[in-house]
Amino acid sequence: MTHVYRVQQQYHPLVALGYIIGPVLIMASHIGALVLFFTGLSWNAFFWGFLIYEIRAISITTIYHRLLIHKAFKTPPLVKWIGCFVASSAGQMGPSWWKGHHLEGHHQVSDLPGDSHSPNYPFTGFKGFFWSQIGWFCSKTFIPNRLPSDVELDPVLKVIDRFHFVPVLLLGSLFYFFGGLEFLGAFCLSTALLFHTTSSVNSLTHIFGSQPFISSDNSRNNWFVAIIALGEGWHNLHHAVEWSARHGYTIENGEVKLLPDPTYWTIKLLEKLNLASNVKLPTNEYLLAKANQDHPGFH
Ligand SMILES: [Zn+2]
Ligand SMILES: [Zn+2]
Repeated sequence: MTHVYRVQQQYHPLVALGYIIGPVLIMASHIGALVLFFTGLSWNAFFWGFLIYEIRAISITTIYHRLLIHKAFKTPPLVKWIGCFVASSAGQMGPSWWKGHHLEGHHQVSDLPGDSHSPNYPFTGFKGFFWSQIGWFCSKTFIPNRLPSDVELDPVLKVIDRFHFVPVLLLGSLFYFFGGLEFLGAFCLSTALLFHTTSSVNSLTHIFGSQPFISSDNSRNNWFVAIIALGEGWHNLHHAVEWSARHGYTIENGEVKLLPDPTYWTIKLLEKLNLASNVKLPTNEYLLAKANQDHPGFH
């Protein structure tokens, strides 16, 4: 099988330079977290670091992933813009970059040549894990093949994408301003851990876990990643039914069983507040038709 891939879009040098700030900031967050060895970590600083971990995580999973990329529901533009602004404060790049990598660079070629961050290609074993966890983010693969036209046509999202590093620098400055070095360290730790949480969806859920549904890749339902990534660990379902607003499904005793999915609960909350509509969910019949007959839960 021949895969033609990585015909690189021509990027303006300033866009490429702006993108490279992303990995630099993630590296800086790892180093910055070390300051906690000198300052210690009070419960107060821990609380604020934890709070921004959760808020930024839910913005990435709800707005970047399930709304912007997979169109699993609809929101007014303001919700999308605010959500993307908050998501970009995680230091994990902006909306165009995210969608460019995730859809074309992952779903369309999952675990095959062309997948930006598979733990199964081009490497396997520990090297594959390391590549998908952080290696690809620091390589030339980091620049997406193309930027998605729908995101690029939204001027607000385009500005957030090109200036993706501003929200994270602003949030870090606020932490330093209010709490000094210790709070800056807590911010860096929160940012570094959240980066590895997102990366775990790339790495761990393509190696470890169950496969209750049929998908053309090695995606898995992984409960550990589901906890830290607010429901995104039910990744086998996600690859089987990409457009579903809920990822938390499995098959048990031949029937569909719901799994905890905080990102879906957030979408339902937005719906109750009239801030989300057209929430897409598969029927039980649809899920059973997608069930993997080799999975123990099928029988
Ligand atoms: Zn996805
Ligand atoms: Zn995947």
